[in-house]
This record gives sequence, C-alpha cells and structure tokens, in this order.
Amino acid sequence: MVITAKDDMRLELQSLLDFFGCDATVELEEIEEGDKITDKFRFTSQDVTHFYEYTFNIDASLTDLHKKSLRKRITKNQFYSILSKELNKTLPWGSLTGVRPTKLARDLIEYGEMKEYLVAELLQRDYFVSKDKAELVANILKNQRCIIRNDNLVDLYVNIPICPTRCIYCSFISSELDKVKDMVDDYLDALIKEIRVIKDIVKEKAYIVRTIYIGGGTPTVLSAKQLDKLLREINFPATEFTVECGRADTITDEKLDVLKNNGVTRISINPQTFCETTLKRIGRKQKNIEVLEAYQKALARDFVVNMDFIAGLPGEKLGIFKRTINTALELYPDNITIHTLSLKRGSVLFDNKDLVQEKDIEKMVDYAESTLVKNGYKPYYIYRQKHQLSGLENVGYFRDNHVCVFNIDSMEETNTIIGVGANAISKRVFNLEKRLERQANVKFIKDYIERIDSTIEKKKEFFK
Ligand code: SF4
Repeated sequence: MVITAKDDMRLELQSLLDFFGCDATVELEEIEEGDKITDKFRFTSQDVTHFYEYTFNIDASLTDLHKKSLRKRITKNQFYSILSKELNKTLPWGSLTGVRPTKLARDLIEYGEMKEYLVAELLQRDYFVSKDKAELVANILKNQRCIIRNDNLVDLYVNIPICPTRCIYCSFISSELDKVKDMVDDYLDALIKEIRVIKDIVKEKAYIVRTIYIGGGTPTVLSAKQLDKLLREINFPATEFTVECGRADTITDEKLDVLKNNGVTRISINPQTFCETTLKRIGRKQKNIEVLEAYQKALARDFVVNMDFIAGLPGEKLGIFKRTINTALELYPDNITIHTLSLKRGSVLFDNKDLVQEKDIEKMVDYAESTLVKNGYKPYYIYRQKHQLSGLENVGYFRDNHVCVFNIDSMEETNTIIGVGANAISKRVFNLEKRLERQANVKFIKDYIERIDSTIEKKKEFFK
C-alpha cells in the first residue's frame, strides 16, 4: 500500500508496487522549499522498516505543467530504485506505468527532450526500461510512419458490446447474447440514429473519415441481416474498415459476404490460443477447425486478417503457448496481436487467482516477439494495462504493409476518434494546442437505448 498526500502520485506509485507484486507499505512525505524538493520514504515490509531521503531542485524557469511532470518522473524513479533494491528485482518497463510507452517517447521527442535515434538509450537511462523493451519502443516508432497529425482527419469507432459467452478473464461491459437478445434490434436502431447525426457532424466540420472500426464485444454475434442494416448506414469512403469478428464460431459465409459488400477491408479472427482444453477453461466455445474455416473464408474474400493471442492463459505452460505461436505462423495472417493476460477486477478469473501462473510469462512474450520478428513481422503498436502479469504489454505486429491505422491512431491519440454506441468514448484531438478532450457515452445497452436522444445532444455539443 502506498500512503501519500497526493492522489495522482499515489495511484502511479501504487501501480509500480503492484507490478512488483509486493505487499509492502510505503509512506511518502514531500517537502517543498522554493525550488528545492525533499522526498522522504518509509518502506515497511513484514518486520523491516527502512528510511530513504532524496533532495532535488526543479528549474524555476519551466512551465508549471513541465515542473509537475518532471517532479512526478523523479519521484517515481526514486520509488522504483527503492523497491528494486529492497526486493532485489527489476521490471521490464522500469519506472514506466502509463498505458502508452510510445506516446510518451513521441511527446518527449516533440518537446525536444529526446532525439529519435536515442530513444532506446534514454528510456534505459532515464526510466530503467530494459534494453529489449526500450528497443521495442524505438522500433515501433519507426513503424508508425502513417501518423498524420491533422485535426480534420478522424476515425470512427462503433461499439457492439455483445458476445456469445463471457470469457473468464473479461471485465468489459460486454453482455452475453442470450441475456440481451430482445434488445438487439432496438440497440441497432439507436446506433443508426447516432450514426446519422455523426454524418451531419462530419459534413459540417468537413471531417475526412480515415478509418472505421467496429469493435466490441463480438460484432459478428449480429445476424447477417442485422449486420447489413448497420453497415449500410456506415457508408463513409474510408481507406480502412475493420470489423472485429473475434469468435470464429460467429463467422459465416453469409456474414462475410455482407462485410465485403459493405466495404469492410480488414477483419479480426481471435483464436487467443490453439489449445482447445484452454478454450474450454476460459469459457470460449470455439473449436480450432472453426478458426481454420473462418480464416479460409476470409482469405477467399481477400480480407486483411488479424489474429489475437494471449500469453499467460490459465493452465497454459510455455510449451503450449509456443505451439500456438508456431501454428499462427503457419497460417501467416497479415496482423498478429500478442496480449499479456491482465487480471482485472470484475472478471471471473480475478476471484480465481489460483488458476493464474505467472512463472513463464516473460519467456512467452519474448518467444512471441523473437519468433514473429524472425518470420518477417514487425511491431507497430503497443499498450499496457493495469494488472497485466509481470507488468508486461500488448503488441500488434504486421507483415508486408498491413498496419492497422486505426490501432495506431487510437493508441497514440494523434487523431480525433468519434465513438458511437454504448460505452464508446470519443476523443477530440487539438493538435496545435497539444491537447485532447474526451467524452463517454452511457455504458450499458439498455441505458443507451433509453437515453439515445440525450446522448445525441451531448455528442453534438462535444463536436460543436
Ligand atoms: S470476446 Fe472479448 S469482450 Fe467478449 S467476453 Fe471475451 S474478452 Fe470479453
């Protein structure tokens, strides 16, 4: 537990303590005397208490914002050094706790604090990031050349938070189809109402919709007819249009034809693992044969295909994970995304932590990265979540030129995203002012249907 007077600092230090997997108590007292700051730490674990004190100066000529972020960085580094010494352990991401390591590096480059060719060295020196992870960030930055900072280029996200069944590690608000099937048609009608307003906003603001992403959930739980009704409304001439099919058992020829006929260019088929025993254990009904059939159908229609996998699934050892990655390579999809399992409050797994084995997790993630890179894939986006095993990360890989621009835009927060549907978040980016504003729609399907008119009014106001 971390005890300190400042809430924002407490949350960040607590994340670091969680990544160390340590149940120590650390108290921090910060004393300010002009530009001079003294941090006093009291570390207590079992019967041992140790005291640490650091004094540093913050340049008075910096802006308040810059002073605040520098101060936070210094305190986090001190905290990391204490934990590392006390627990005799280092973390792959050092003192970095944020969701977007590449965004941090890009900001530092744009603020003139870092040169791009020195990113890997400086992340190691200033944030204790391991050499491998620092080089991963540098590589990803190189593979994100498609970023265009232009306030008129926007991405559209449509949320279908419905799934056939619930995976045991899931903490999303996604509902099981059986429980909401009577609401699906009303949900689609509400979505279409919001999309029509978005069309007016796009026209008025002279926005160009660069990419479209229909995610969830599992959008292909919708019937072919329902999908067609929705997609006919989303008729922006975007260059990239993704539908996250997710579960192979929801993919049919008819649905893929509907996607193709409505301009979809990319789909995601997410096996998560090729071990069927694990699939049963995590609450997914799909069979490997269904993944293969769905993939064949997708290739026959010329879709760009992504496949998601998770390292650290309950009961999986290194050997099983390696087999999954090797099978994925035989299929050779355009994109492969490797997630590290995240133990989230609200998931079934969170209450059954004994199922989780963290032992080989770093080896799994390293194996996936080195094997994919050896076989021609390159990393192109990355994000971290709270409570990921061993503080690791999720990385998207591409081969040839098939990066998913939406994934980059949304992770790097370089473009405005218009979010439609229950629990969708819109982000309006003001590139020149280097700031963004967020707006969230209501969370649950039922509330979204009931409050669609007020949701639309709020959306109009947000994009005014
Ligand atoms: S498919 Fe995704 S959204 Fe649906 S239950 Fe599983 S983890 Fe949650």
